[in-house]
Amino acid sequence: MASIFTRIVNGEIPSYKVAEDDRFYAFLDINPVQPGHTLVIPKQEVDYIFDLDNDTYAGLTLFAKKVAEAIKAAVTCRKVGMAVIGLEVPHAHIHLVPMQAEKDMDFARHAELPASEMTAIAEAIAGQFAKL
Ligand code: 5GP
Repeated sequence: MASIFTRIVNGEIPSYKVAEDDRFYAFLDINPVQPGHTLVIPKQEVDYIFDLDNDTYAGLTLFAKKVAEAIKAAVTCRKVGMAVIGLEVPHAHIHLVPMQAEKDMDFARHAELPASEMTAIAEAIAGQFAKL
């Protein structure tokens, strides 16, 4: 069965998309640890990030770099943190989290933001991404 992230890429499940190209997709985490918390994934469904072929792995990290630049421009933060953690969704993903302090990368603390706020954040990041 397709992963929940593949279903998002295919448009079967809605997402707050911030960026996409032919191989990669970036969207807001539904339970962000900070506003602007974004997931970057390969469209190819592979569970473990270090099982990706070298070209896809390198492409994913470069795509994440560009998304991080867009987040930094759109969301007030000192830096954008990057993490590969968790066992929940069996589809490789990089977390990008806007940080004011190291404690902002606490993945035990999830929030739920109103849809209007999620939409505004996604549009702001997408707008910055389009300028890069
Ligand atoms: P991990 O596998 O790294 O522990 O976490 C998976 C992440 O995906 C979590 O932060 C969770 O909030 C997020 N997530 C799980 N299901 C969905 C979904 O359907 N939509 C979105 N946007 N994020 C999801």
